[in-house]
Amino acid sequence: MVSKVIIALAVLLCAEAVLGVAVVSKSAWGARNPKSKTTLAGSLSYAVIHHTAGNYCSTRDACVKELRNIQAYHMDSLGWADIGYNFLIGGDGSVYEGRGWNVLGAHATNWNSKSIGISFMGNFNNNQPTAAMISAAKGLLSDAVSRGQIKSGYTLYGHRQVGSTECPGNNLWNEIRTWANWKA
Ligand SMILES: [Zn+2]
Repeated sequence: MVSKVIIALAVLLCAEAVLGVAVVSKSAWGARNPKSKTTLAGSLSYAVIHHTAGNYCSTRDACVKELRNIQAYHMDSLGWADIGYNFLIGGDGSVYEGRGWNVLGAHATNWNSKSIGISFMGNFNNNQPTAAMISAAKGLLSDAVSRGQIKSGYTLYGHRQVGSTECPGNNLWNEIRTWANWKA
């Protein structure tokens, strides 16, 4: 009896360590299928933070609508295989699956094969990242380490550090510069 309880606890603790943050899957937000997929290696050294520079959303319905718009823009107007980012963070505090784990993104020229791309939904020159969004992104990053997508000593960059862009917006830029893995 005691050993069964210990096993159950161990399973729970393992599940916690592996699952971490809840991710809203592509099927849950009504995403289209990608035109193609390319494998992204594990043990990457970098994570790149973006903003979508589009609409801010604070409810599931509004975020789902915006996600579908962004995916349509990336696939139909830009001609990409899928929504560009690996994951997106909604103003509702949810993590939304973009290309997901182990799939090459289209978010930072020359850096896509070296990093995962996480984008905050909104324009963070004007919007402010909320505590829930920050916590969701940090949880996602620690999950990325737990599952071996990025190394434990990974470097966190804002898009402006690896490309000629104001992304991820000044307010989010000032926030991520306080995170443990951010490097100048
Ligand atoms: Zn960006």
